Amino acid sequence: MGSGIGPGRCFRCGRPLTGDDVGLYKKLFNRGATEFLCLSCTSAHYGISETRARELIDHFRRSGCALFASPGEADGTGPHR
Ligand SMILES: [Zn+2]
Repeated sequence: MGSGIGPGRCFRCGRPLTGDDVGLYKKLFNRGATEFLCLSCTSAHYGISETRARELIDHFRRSGCALFASPGEADGTGPHR
Protein backbone atom coordinates (compact mmCIF):
# COMPACT_ATOMS: atom_id res chain seq x y z
CA MET A 1 0.00 0.00 0.00
CA GLY A 2 2.41 2.69 1.15
CA SER A 3 5.75 3.25 -0.48
CA GLY A 4 7.59 2.43 2.72
CA ILE A 5 8.79 5.92 3.54
CA GLY A 6 8.70 6.43 7.29
CA PRO A 7 6.16 4.97 9.68
CA GLY A 8 3.23 6.81 8.06
CA ARG A 9 0.53 8.92 9.64
CA CYS A 10 -1.82 8.72 12.57
CA PHE A 11 -5.00 7.04 11.35
CA ARG A 12 -7.12 9.27 13.55
CA CYS A 13 -5.75 12.78 13.07
CA GLY A 14 -3.34 12.33 10.16
CA ARG A 15 -0.29 13.70 11.93
CA PRO A 16 3.04 12.33 10.64
CA LEU A 17 4.26 9.64 13.01
CA THR A 18 7.62 9.36 14.69
CA GLY A 19 9.30 6.12 15.68
CA ASP A 20 8.31 6.81 19.28
CA ASP A 21 4.65 7.18 18.36
CA VAL A 22 4.73 3.84 16.59
CA GLY A 23 6.70 2.16 19.36
CA LEU A 24 4.32 3.31 22.06
CA TYR A 25 1.31 2.26 20.04
CA LYS A 26 2.74 -1.19 19.45
CA LYS A 27 3.64 -1.50 23.09
CA LEU A 28 0.24 -0.45 24.41
CA PHE A 29 -2.12 -1.74 21.74
CA ASN A 30 -0.75 -4.41 19.50
CA ARG A 31 2.76 -5.30 18.51
CA GLY A 32 1.59 -6.54 15.12
CA ALA A 33 -0.32 -3.37 14.26
CA THR A 34 0.01 -2.01 10.75
CA GLU A 35 -1.53 1.41 11.37
CA PHE A 36 -0.87 3.60 14.35
CA LEU A 37 -1.94 6.52 16.48
CA CYS A 38 0.25 9.52 17.23
CA LEU A 39 1.32 10.31 20.76
CA SER A 40 -1.59 12.72 21.26
CA CYS A 41 -4.24 10.24 20.18
CA THR A 42 -2.67 7.39 22.13
CA SER A 43 -2.60 9.58 25.23
CA ALA A 44 -6.20 10.65 24.72
CA HIS A 45 -7.27 7.04 24.28
CA TYR A 46 -5.74 6.07 27.60
CA GLY A 47 -6.77 9.29 29.35
CA ILE A 48 -3.18 10.23 30.20
CA SER A 49 -1.22 13.38 29.44
CA GLU A 50 1.30 13.55 26.62
CA THR A 51 3.92 14.21 29.24
CA ARG A 52 3.04 10.91 30.89
CA ALA A 53 3.15 9.17 27.52
CA ARG A 54 6.65 10.51 26.91
CA GLU A 55 7.69 9.27 30.32
CA LEU A 56 6.43 5.84 29.35
CA ILE A 57 8.44 5.93 26.13
CA ASP A 58 11.50 6.95 28.10
CA HIS A 59 10.89 4.14 30.57
CA PHE A 60 10.47 1.52 27.83
CA ARG A 61 13.55 2.75 25.98
CA ARG A 62 15.68 2.62 29.10
CA SER A 63 14.48 -0.88 29.86
CA GLY A 64 15.90 -1.86 26.49
CA CYS A 65 12.69 -2.34 24.54
CA ALA A 66 13.58 -2.92 20.91
CA LEU A 67 10.48 -1.01 19.82
CA PHE A 68 12.17 2.20 20.94
CA ALA A 69 15.62 1.78 19.48
CA SER A 70 16.72 5.22 18.44
CA PRO A 71 18.10 5.38 14.88
CA GLY A 72 20.42 8.23 15.81
CA GLU A 73 22.06 6.30 18.61
CA ALA A 74 22.61 3.10 16.65
CA ASP A 75 25.08 4.80 14.36
CA GLY A 76 28.43 3.18 14.85
CA THR A 77 29.21 4.56 18.29
CA GLY A 78 28.46 1.31 20.07
CA PRO A 79 25.50 0.34 22.22
CA HIS A 80 26.58 2.26 25.32
CA ARG A 81 28.72 5.30 24.67
ZN1 LIG B 1 -3.29 11.45 16.10
